[in-house]
Amino acid sequence: MDMYKLGFKEEEAVLRKVAEPVTEFNQQLKDQIKEMIEFMINSNGVGLAAPQIGDSRRLLVVGFDDMKPMAFINPEIIETSMDENVYEEGCLSVPGMYAKVTRPKRIKVQAWNERGRPFTIEADGMLATVLQHEIDHLNGVLFVDHLNERNKDKILKKYFKTMGIQ
Ligand SMILES: [Zn+2]
Repeated sequence: MDMYKLGFKEEEAVLRKVAEPVTEFNQQLKDQIKEMIEFMINSNGVGLAAPQIGDSRRLLVVGFDDMKPMAFINPEIIETSMDENVYEEGCLSVPGMYAKVTRPKRIKVQAWNERGRPFTIEADGMLATVLQHEIDHLNGVLFVDHLNERNKDKILKKYFKTMGIQ
């Protein structure tokens, strides 16, 4: 499993694509979720979306602190709160870069688990932010896209410089 990163043409193309719904709930999917959870933990991430490993399907995993890592398949945000939260976000696909991002504080998400069962979850605080960040990945959106143009330019310049790109 490889981490797809911004700034590498073919990898960026996958990261920028709107992912396709998962249609088959089978052993392959279960195995992949297991691998994604391991990869996320080994990469010190709090979430990982399938496009980040080059799989353009609507699938993500999250897990941090004492929470049991879990999978969200074909997730949809069905409710968002008016009040917002600001967290410093980073991304395994834009390594080393961090910026404050404002997002709704609470969300309700509907998704399917690896056994093909639908569920809804109300998320608050950090979980709400992580889920929004990962669901963004399924729509080809990266956290830097939430910054104003000036800050986005700044962080991308710094990133490309650190990565030795361009
Ligand atoms: Zn990310």
